[in-house]
Amino acid sequence: MRNAGKSIDLAGRRLLAMRDAQDALAAGATSIVAAANCVVTPSARDFLQQHGIELVMSGRETGARTNANPAADASAHEGRTPNARLYSTPEAEAIKKEICTVGRKLWLRQFVDGNGGNITYRIGPNEVLCTPTLVSKYDLTPEDICLTDLEGNQIAGPKPRTSELLLHLEIFKAVPEARAAVHCHPPHATAYAITGRVPPNMIIPEFEVFVGKVAISPYETPGTKAFAETVLPYVKDHNTVLLANHGIICWADTVTHAEWYAEVLETYCWTLMLAAQLGVPIARISEEQGTDLLELKKKLGLPDIRFDTSRMKECQLSDLEIPSSIALEPTPCDGCTNNDNTVGALGSHADLDALVRSVTDAVMEAIGK
Ligand SMILES: [Zn+2]
Repeated sequence: MRNAGKSIDLAGRRLLAMRDAQDALAAGATSIVAAANCVVTPSARDFLQQHGIELVMSGRETGARTNANPAADASAHEGRTPNARLYSTPEAEAIKKEICTVGRKLWLRQFVDGNGGNITYRIGPNEVLCTPTLVSKYDLTPEDICLTDLEGNQIAGPKPRTSELLLHLEIFKAVPEARAAVHCHPPHATAYAITGRVPPNMIIPEFEVFVGKVAISPYETPGTKAFAETVLPYVKDHNTVLLANHGIICWADTVTHAEWYAEVLETYCWTLMLAAQLGVPIARISEEQGTDLLELKKKLGLPDIRFDTSRMKECQLSDLEIPSSIALEPTPCDGCTNNDNTVGALGSHADLDALVRSVTDAVMEAIGK
């Protein structure tokens, strides 16, 4: 016989399925408390009725998806068995569709090529929805999406997961606020990534608020653990990182927002390149007006290394060195502490500058200017 009056509180759940009803029976419950907006499957409802378990819908609602953070702390996944049932919840189905929409946006904007790029969403403390390998982001369907744990082991989904998943997982483990990540190869931002340079700041307000200081991580072979760990020093203070000789990665609270940051960065890099062709200096936002933008950014809860005023001085110094340049050498504020990493076999930035200057002089001479 069951204990009289044993109640199980499932008010934090968005879905109550047959398995929950069976678990409640096994635990000897006489009632279950569910949130007002919880979806109860018909079979679970019937099962509870058959076994005399009362279903009490509480006055409380479970939080919205963007507020409910399954990773209240970065190590929330440790020791937890991944829950395969998270693959087919109503929330998962909605996010799978969102991933497909974002995949199409990336392809249509030419941010990905071939089967390149990948998209992830941390749906539980130890569960991540991700894109499969070897599928164009244009052709994605919700059925293609995979579910893995935070170590990259696949739990559900018919196709093998993306090989670049580890990069996303390192971000999820390091930054609890990161719920979604988008990795892609947008050409103008990638042009910075292959030259080891970062764009200057305080030129376009939207870029300052949504991206701001973009970091650059050193090159490593994609798909490896070493590659995944290259972003670790930067992801707490930056939501967008240039991956040297590769592409970019952005993280956010939703998949849609992470793709927005990729768009903001790519358009910014493109606009700077167009402006440089006009042959006149680019105007800057004043320091005072820039402070207003950073205040706005703080209110939106977005990260920025410039909130740390002691490090902001270093950032400003680097920007002031070459006021008309659209491509700056990274400073510690941009995540780069070792310049040699970012130019590979070409040697130091100084060597590269000298090389570019001599080639430019030779071309100018040849065309008779
Ligand atoms: Zn890639």
